[in-house]
Amino acid sequence: MSDDTAMARETVLGLDIGGTKMAAALVSADGTILTGDLIRTPAGDADEVFAALGELITRVRGDSSPLAVGIGSAGPLDQQHGLVSPVNIPGWRNFPLVDRVRALTGDVPVTLGMDGHCFALGEFWSGAGRDADTLLGIVVSTGVGGGLVVDGKPLIGQSGNAAHIGHVVVDQDGESCACGSYGCVEAYASGPRMVARAKRRGWRTDEDVDAAVLAADAAAGDELALATFDDGAQALAAGIVATAVTVDLTTVVIGGGVAKAGPVLFDPVQAWVKKLAQLPFVAELTVEPAQLDNAGLLGAAHQAWAALT
Ligand SMILES: [Zn+2]
Repeated sequence: MSDDTAMARETVLGLDIGGTKMAAALVSADGTILTGDLIRTPAGDADEVFAALGELITRVRGDSSPLAVGIGSAGPLDQQHGLVSPVNIPGWRNFPLVDRVRALTGDVPVTLGMDGHCFALGEFWSGAGRDADTLLGIVVSTGVGGGLVVDGKPLIGQSGNAAHIGHVVVDQDGESCACGSYGCVEAYASGPRMVARAKRRGWRTDEDVDAAVLAADAAAGDELALATFDDGAQALAAGIVATAVTVDLTTVVIGGGVAKAGPVLFDPVQAWVKKLAQLPFVAELTVEPAQLDNAGLLGAAHQAWAALT
């Protein structure tokens, strides 16, 4: 679509900030991306990282005047004060991202949300959850994150950190977790933890391998890889069912790098969910793969449109 067309339509600017990439797009009220681009997240100090983002924003915005800006960012973040401290962007600690973006984009509403919340919101808006009113979105990657949409609205929580599905405890006597607790979903289902678990079982002990290799081996029938995916799936299912009975939902969407494993993850997750979800109001619980490649970016834009109504 040409820049002229983008300028003629009302848009918001969506931003998706992660440790690997940063994306920006002009998005219309019906969820259409009119123009967008992405860059690799640079290393460097706070101003160097922001300079790269600023160039991206300027390029994507062109001559248009977006009505609002929605930012989805890796956490942790301080929503109230507009500060971000993404674990994988070491140059940004309590970085005033909202103020810095506003200085570039003028006096329009600027919203900030967790990347997992934006993922759930994006899939709810125009992905696998578009027919649902209440949705749990899960991102399974180097960690396990997520977001909840309840009765059509994102559940933010008191501090902006609702739906930390990766740290739902599913085995209180279980493995230690990076958060300091025990038996969290993430301790069984994240890519690195599944790889470590498989290696403890004797899978490819000498090699530098990742979750994609584990998934390929599982798909080829390797029993150690299959057993490890089943453990991860069981933990995910327990976390899903705990959340489903708490907020009363029937739609779960899973994305992220590890979800690209496909049936070797989704088949056992669905089998475990069927086994664990026994109360009538969660008996129809469905777990589906994410449909969008840019759910976080769209969710950030949705958040911006919501700020205007
Ligand atoms: Zn944890």
